[in-house]
Amino acid sequence: MGRSSKDKRDIYYRLAKEEGWRARSAFKLLQLDEEFNLFKGVRRAVDLCAAPGSWSQVLSRKLRGKEEKSEDVKIVAVDLQAMAPLPGVTQIQGDITKISTAQEMIRHFEGQPADLVVCDGAPDVTGLHDVDEYIQAQLLLAALNITTHVLKPGGTFVAKIFRGKDVTLLYSQLKIFFSGVTCAKPRSSRNSSIEAFVVCENYSPPEGYVPNMSNPLLDHCYDVDFNQLEGPNRIIVPFLACGDLSAFDSDRTYPLQLDPSKEYRYTPPTQPPICPPYQQACHLRKNNLLAKEESPSVPLDGAFSTLHL
Ligand code: SAM
Repeated sequence: MGRSSKDKRDIYYRLAKEEGWRARSAFKLLQLDEEFNLFKGVRRAVDLCAAPGSWSQVLSRKLRGKEEKSEDVKIVAVDLQAMAPLPGVTQIQGDITKISTAQEMIRHFEGQPADLVVCDGAPDVTGLHDVDEYIQAQLLLAALNITTHVLKPGGTFVAKIFRGKDVTLLYSQLKIFFSGVTCAKPRSSRNSSIEAFVVCENYSPPEGYVPNMSNPLLDHCYDVDFNQLEGPNRIIVPFLACGDLSAFDSDRTYPLQLDPSKEYRYTPPTQPPICPPYQQACHLRKNNLLAKEESPSVPLDGAFSTLHL
């Protein structure tokens, strides 16, 4: 009962296991591709913030396919965390805000630019909406910065965005670099989540732009209310719900037996995390090794009397 209840509550979680994807997010990239034909003609692709690797799996399956000449396809996956290997995917364990990571990516492509960069990056959420939105925006800008080092003119950049109150500013910043910017919400992304994806097409940086890793775009602009801007100063980005509308609804609960002719069988996760941070915490707790609060050396009464002196 326990194991299958998540299968019931989250149809994409269940389908991911059944189809062998490492995470349910695979469906988001697949549905974005259905709408935007992202993979057409792509030979070099980068997956930023890739672990545990379901987007890299999609890239590997879609770009390499079963063709024999898949050797000229190059996929680089970057994440702070290590992930289990995938066919045809080179991993860089690194930080997307670091120039060294950009240099490693360039080295891997032997100086050739990438056709596509995708980023599903997300920091650990704090639950404080303003803080979470701000950090997500910073991560997106870091992804944009590193992308400008490797993406070919005309190339595509796809990234996760939080549709918070200052999202207009981000759209404007993306429009500086891409002639087409669309905000898309795949069917597999829950309606209850402010998450969406920007699909930025036709990379065309401003003349004379030199890629760098500093992030001058956001911080100093917070005294301007971007929602008040009008005319050419305000960029309205089209919003698109994507993925076949008859596809499963990610906010609904489905019965375990989806097909009356097929009995439900539990599927374990495709690739459990190889070194999750919680593993050490569980080990410490199990062995009673977690730090304990030291008992105060001065009795509380003493502390109060000191304060009154
Ligand atoms: N797209 C992935 C998939 O389909 O399996 C899931 C990505 S997960 C939602 C977000 C990832 O962003 C985490 O693995 C995290 O380590 C990574 N991340 C966050 N900040 C990063 C940074 N500065 N550099 C590299 N990776 C980062």
